[in-house]
Amino acid sequence: MSIQIQGVTKLYGEQKALNNVSFTANKGEIMGFLGPNGAGKSTLMKIITCYLKPDNGTITVNGHDIIEDPLAVRKIIGYLPEHNPLYHEMYVKEYLHFIAGIHKLKHKKQRVSSVIETVGLELEQKKRIGALSKGYKQRVGLAQALIHDPEVLILDEPTSGLDPNQLADIREVIRNIGKEKTVMFSTHIMQEVEAICDRVVIINRGNLLVNESSTEILNAHANEQIIIVEFDKEVAKNSLRKINGLARIEELGNNQWKLTSKEQQDFRLAISKYANEHELLVLSMQKQTQSLEEVFKSLTVKS
Ligand code: ADP
Ligand code: MG
Repeated sequence: MSIQIQGVTKLYGEQKALNNVSFTANKGEIMGFLGPNGAGKSTLMKIITCYLKPDNGTITVNGHDIIEDPLAVRKIIGYLPEHNPLYHEMYVKEYLHFIAGIHKLKHKKQRVSSVIETVGLELEQKKRIGALSKGYKQRVGLAQALIHDPEVLILDEPTSGLDPNQLADIREVIRNIGKEKTVMFSTHIMQEVEAICDRVVIINRGNLLVNESSTEILNAHANEQIIIVEFDKEVAKNSLRKINGLARIEELGNNQWKLTSKEQQDFRLAISKYANEHELLVLSMQKQTQSLEEVFKSLTVKS
């Protein structure tokens, strides 16, 4: 249930922003929607929230079709857009009352107090929105998304541009909200996923690459070996491709390279052998542990 996305394609002129994307966000799950800039994350979120129409495919939110019944969909969705459009001249509480009015809520006062508490805005509620820090503005954005107590929350890069403290705070808020609601939130930062998500969907250039639980992704890539090696002189990238078992190369500068292998044998032996044959000295070699971030890089960056 919750959000079912089936074969969604979206074109901007000639450009395919989404290419036949299908996945499901389950009830009561925090789903990380990951991809580099331009992957198509915001486009899909705008389609789910009925701000854009797909060229192909269907989406239902808790059983309601986004094309046939957009009003019902909007009622059960809370949406924090990428560029959170707030009224900077309004005061926090006043703004939330205004939004509650748009939703025609009955018990406005209680709802406003309740969301202020949920997102931790008690001390800021009497301030002008324009006077708040970026982190608190994001909380106001979250509060407006939550005001009508939606079953599903769509958050488009809610943590972008926040400092580390603000980040930790907002993550905590999202984690708490996720206990009761279905949350889909987009990010281009892989660590976010490790920090909060039950499941990850990764897209790149409009194509779905991964749809798995965080642990499944790590396990699938657990046998990869990442070695940081430093040679005594310059080597051509193409020449390094001759190393036995090599899967990926990344140049780190100063004759340092990050080399990845998917083979079982100790990859350091293959690198040493290559160095010998090419009259290179290995100044250092270090094993790096596999992280979700590395997996994300390997899936979305071409070497
Ligand atoms: P993301 O949110 O993952 O960064 P977007 O969904 O914003 O990606 O964009 C996906 C692709 O579609 C990008 O290449 C972007 O340039 C393009 N795009 C987005 N919005 C428009 C638009 N209104 N008109 C034309 N191209 C667009
Ligand atoms: Mg975006």
